[in-house]
Amino acid sequence: MKDTTLATLGEFGFITRIADSVQTGTGVITGIGDDAAVTAFTPGMQLLSSTDMLLEDVHFRHSWHDPYRLGRKSLAASISDIAAMGGIPRWSLLSLAIPPQTPVAFLDEFTRGYLAMASEHGVALIGGDTCSSRHGLAISVTIMGEQLPERILRRSGARTGDEIWVTGTLGDAAMGLNLLEQNSVTSPLTDPLGPKGEGQGGSEYLISRLLDPTPRTLTGIALAESGLVSAMIDISDGVLADFGHIAELSAVGGEIRMDDLPLSAPFRAAAGQFPEFPFPFALSGGEDYELCFTSSPDHRKKIELLMKKCGIGATPVGIVTSSPEVVTLLSDGRPFQQKTPGFNHFT
Ligand code: ADP
Ligand code: MG
Repeated sequence: MKDTTLATLGEFGFITRIADSVQTGTGVITGIGDDAAVTAFTPGMQLLSSTDMLLEDVHFRHSWHDPYRLGRKSLAASISDIAAMGGIPRWSLLSLAIPPQTPVAFLDEFTRGYLAMASEHGVALIGGDTCSSRHGLAISVTIMGEQLPERILRRSGARTGDEIWVTGTLGDAAMGLNLLEQNSVTSPLTDPLGPKGEGQGGSEYLISRLLDPTPRTLTGIALAESGLVSAMIDISDGVLADFGHIAELSAVGGEIRMDDLPLSAPFRAAAGQFPEFPFPFALSGGEDYELCFTSSPDHRKKIELLMKKCGIGATPVGIVTSSPEVVTLLSDGRPFQQKTPGFNHFT
C-alpha cells in the first residue's frame, strides 16, 4: 500500500478502510455504510450540533501539519464547540474533498489521528462524504453532542459583576504559529528558543499547542453540571474577541486585566523576542481552544476546587461590567490599546 494513491484505491476502497477502523459508540444504532446513520439520544437530553471546515492553505499547511495531528485537530476544533456549551460530545460526520494523487499512507495517518481524538473524547464517527478535489484538501467535520436542557451553557447568560475566567494558558498556539512562520520550521523541529530559558522543548510545546490542541471536554461538562457558570465560549480567536461574543449576546461589557492573563513558561520565554511583549498573542492569538466563562464572585472558591478536580488551571482575568464595551487594563489602570482584534477570515 506504500505507493498507493486515492486515485488507485478509489472512493469506496477508502470508505471501507475508514469503516474498518471505526469503533462503535454511545447511542450508535447504525453507523457508516447505510444512507444515513441512526443514533439514539440519552432520554431527556437535547441535541447540540456544530460544523467546521478546514481548508488547505487557509487553515493548515502540509509543511507544518503532519497528517496524524491534522486528523486530531480536525476533530478537536469541533469537540471544543460542544465543550463550550457544556455538552457531551457523541457523534461526528467527516466529509473530505481529496486531491486524487494523495497517498493512501497520508489518509491512513489522518484517519488514525481523527479516530484517536474521537476515542479520547468518547466520539463515534458515524458517517461522512468523500469526493475528489482539484484544489487542495478540504475537510469538513460535523459534530453532535447532547446535554440536559438546564445544563447547557450559552454565550448569553453573563451578568454584570460576574468574574471572567479562562482555563489553561493563553497565546501558546499563536506563539507556536509565530515560531513556525519565523523559522519556516519543518520536521524535524529545530528549537529557536535554544538557551533562552526553556531550552529544548519550549518551542516544541508551543508548536504542539497549535498543531495538536486539547479540547476541554471534561472541564466543560463539569462546569455545566456545577450550576456555577452563567455563560461560556471556547477561545478560538483570542479571549478579547471571544469574550466579546459573550458580552454582545449578554448585552454587557467587561474589563480584562492584562496582568492576570495566564501565560505558560515557554510562552514567556518566547515572548521576549517580540517587541510588543506579550499581549497581542495572549489577547488575540487564535486556536488555544481553552474555555472562557463567567461566574458570580461568590462562587470563586467552588470554581477553584472544581478546576482542581478537573486537573486544569483556571484563572479569573476580569469582571463583567454594565458598559457595552470590553476594555483591557494594565496594572496601573490605564487601558491597553490593542491594535489587532481576533482573527477574522474576511479582514
Ligand atoms: P451516498 O451516496 O448514499 O451518500 P456514500 O457512498 O457517500 O453514500 O457513503 C457511503 C457510506 O460511507 C455512508 O454511510 C457515509 O456516511 C459513509 N462515508 C462516506 N465518506 C465518509 C468519510 N469520509 N468518513 C466517514 N464515513 C464516510
Ligand atoms: Mg454521500
